[in-house]
Amino acid sequence: MLEHLREGPLTSRDLSGLLGIREKDVSAHLEHLVRSLKRSDERLHVEPAECLGCGYVFADRKRLTRPSACPKCRAQRIEAPIFSLRP
Ligand SMILES: [Zn+2]
Repeated sequence: MLEHLREGPLTSRDLSGLLGIREKDVSAHLEHLVRSLKRSDERLHVEPAECLGCGYVFADRKRLTRPSACPKCRAQRIEAPIFSLRP
């Protein structure tokens, strides 16, 4: 997972395909990764999810999963968060 994230920004769906795990299990792996990175000089950067209906950005979201609906306009077309590794 580390190598994939070093190569480029990825969504949880991308990671699911690359790692052969279910998309809903990706966030647990990412959370584990965040904990193990505390001892290194790399950090997981999260480009927050964004509502495609009204442009609302889920900037304060702590969970690493894709939100199911927008709290502002209730649209369910949400652009997934994008993960990458940064020094
Ligand atoms: Zn919205």
